[in-house]
Amino acid sequence: MAGGMLTVGIPEYRLPRSVVQREIANIQKYGVEIRLNSPVGKDGLSFESLWQEGFQAIFVAAGAHKSVPLGVPGEDLNGVYHGTAFLKEMGLRNKVKVGAKVAVIGGGNVAVDAARSALRAGAKEVAIVYRRSRDEMPAYPEEVAAAEGEDIRIQFLALPKKVIGKAGKVSGLECVKTQLGEPDASGRRRPEPVKGSEFVIDVDTVIAAVGEVPDLSFLDTAKFFLNDNKTLKAASPAFVTNVKGVFAGGDAVTGPATVIEAIAAGKKAALAIDKYLRGESLDYQEPVPSIISIEDVDCGEVQEEGTAGDALAPGSQTGKKL
Ligand SMILES: Cc1cc2nc3c(=O)[nH]c(=O)nc-3n(C[C@H](O)[C@H](O)[C@H](O)COP(=O)(O)OP(=O)(O)OC[C@H]3O[C@@H](n4cnc5c(N)ncnc54)[C@H](O)[C@@H]3O)c2cc1C
Repeated sequence: MAGGMLTVGIPEYRLPRSVVQREIANIQKYGVEIRLNSPVGKDGLSFESLWQEGFQAIFVAAGAHKSVPLGVPGEDLNGVYHGTAFLKEMGLRNKVKVGAKVAVIGGGNVAVDAARSALRAGAKEVAIVYRRSRDEMPAYPEEVAAAEGEDIRIQFLALPKKVIGKAGKVSGLECVKTQLGEPDASGRRRPEPVKGSEFVIDVDTVIAAVGEVPDLSFLDTAKFFLNDNKTLKAASPAFVTNVKGVFAGGDAVTGPATVIEAIAAGKKAALAIDKYLRGESLDYQEPVPSIISIEDVDCGEVQEEGTAGDALAPGSQTGKKL
């Protein structure tokens, strides 16, 4: 399926597939051919085969789909899922087998989406376990409020230590309470385990959503420059990598970000690739956007309930239509 995380990440109840499908159809109308089921990498296409086919530029927009492991004992037990894989199953098949009691670990949008999706997959009780406090939670506040409105409990200041198993299956999650210390590299206060404060949550399913990184195993990573956080290096404003003819953008370059940033990267990279194919220099300054005041915005075309039909704005719980 085309659409990346818009199709297999962001849950259907927040971003209806019909909206994404309409956008994809618009792109196809411009003459863009979409070849599905065509992985680049081992046993699939290669950069070499693409050059041989006659393509003169490649834009790498492979996203950030690999979940960061929890790194605690018991992570391989039956009943442990990783956030993006869990949501992908929900996105593709609208069904994942979850137990009655689910713990989701993490504090970002993926964790909140996984928790709310677990409820929709049939779980009776869902708890989010987050190692910092509400103030540091990176998820959209309205999504957190919506999760709490669905009776999802958030256990703040707790860190998983071990997934407990019985006969190869998850039977609990051992956590330790944390307190916040000095700020770390992210600028947020570092969670420090409180000695002797271990406790066990009674669960049969654990979903780990503690971060995502790009899976660049399809690239000859020895040839490409990477950033410290293992994303692909691409220089602005032209999104060029260090390999001639190869451009890159979106989450594969920035790490997990937003839909609009990925779309903006695609548009700017398309302009750069156009210059490249015409033999023009890529050593240019990004044009300064023209900024107009809010009073000068023509709202005539904006309808509160437009053609997007039943589409709720991502993150919106207000029922306001796109
Ligand atoms: C659960 C979740 C919720 C989110 N919620 C929001 C939100 O509310 N608002 C918001 O703005 N953003 C949200 N995001 C972030 C947003 O979805 C991403 O930032 C955006 O989709 C990134 O776009 P991209 O094109 O870089 O990558 P992706 O959308 O990840 O697309 C990458 C594509 O590349 C394909 N691909 C990967 N490797 C290969 C390969 N080797 N060969 C061929 N194809 C390959 C993938 O299959 C996929 O189709 C959310 C993300 C997740 C996971």
